[in-house]
Amino acid sequence: MTHAPDVALVRALRQNAATIALMGVDFVPVRSHTNAPMVPSELEPKPLIAPTKPEPVVARVVAQQPAVAVGAPRPPESSAGTDVADGSRERAQQQLDDLLARYERDAPHKNFVTDHHNIVFGEGDPCARLMFVGEAPGAEEDRVGRPFVGRSGQLLDKMINAMGLSRERVYIANVLKTRPPDNATPTSDECALCAPYLYEQIMIIRPEAIVTLGLPASRTLLNSTESMMRLRGQWHRFQPPAALLTGPSGKGLDSEWSVPLMPTYHPAFILRSYTPENRAKVWSDLQQVMDRLGLGNASMG
Ligand code: URA
Repeated sequence: MTHAPDVALVRALRQNAATIALMGVDFVPVRSHTNAPMVPSELEPKPLIAPTKPEPVVARVVAQQPAVAVGAPRPPESSAGTDVADGSRERAQQQLDDLLARYERDAPHKNFVTDHHNIVFGEGDPCARLMFVGEAPGAEEDRVGRPFVGRSGQLLDKMINAMGLSRERVYIANVLKTRPPDNATPTSDECALCAPYLYEQIMIIRPEAIVTLGLPASRTLLNSTESMMRLRGQWHRFQPPAALLTGPSGKGLDSEWSVPLMPTYHPAFILRSYTPENRAKVWSDLQQVMDRLGLGNASMG
């Protein structure tokens, strides 16, 4: 007896296989209807990172992204999200613009050595449900004024896409807004000087979850000195300092306000230590985030 293939199921399984391949599984055993052995070509590990394309130069530091919110059912990528109250997105973007202007006036980076040409403040949906926080811009980010557009950014894009999302639907920022010389890891003093602006970005965006990428971002937002090994894979909470809650970005937030935070490895670390184990760990961290946001089926849609 022959069975007609269930087209939706086959499509869903294909998409799911492509998704898990992105983050931790190099092959998926495939059997034909007759239970024949695995297809050998499926055992070939596929390169997960596409060759680098030259990035377009953009002048604006804060991208004005299309207004799309995350969540299920997932709207087409090109459509505008409508699940925030009228004017909220514009108001949040205005607050972010004001915060950037304040950052430029204060210029906390003048207190330490930088090698920057642009301030890389952050970009994405100002009402995003999910926010990613890295450590500091690299050379490519400094050149174009946007976060995560170099090699690490390509992997971050794949992580975001594997979650069923796109860059435009999340918000991406760094602790430091300026490039450190030789891409040095920011010191805790440098992070502390820039942290209040990141805290305020979070308070304006009010995401439902934050993913910190690597140790400086995780430690800064958790006020912790723990290792990445101990921090990652578990839910924590980011709570802004009480003093900021009484400022303009804290309007409407109560003193207990906090955001669930999942630390995971930085994409640059994954690129350096490109093992199935490390990729599987990141993917498992991201799956916890997807579960929390109800995005479990998003990549199958
Ligand atoms: N690494 C980061 O932490 N942030 C970027 O924007 C790029 C690379």
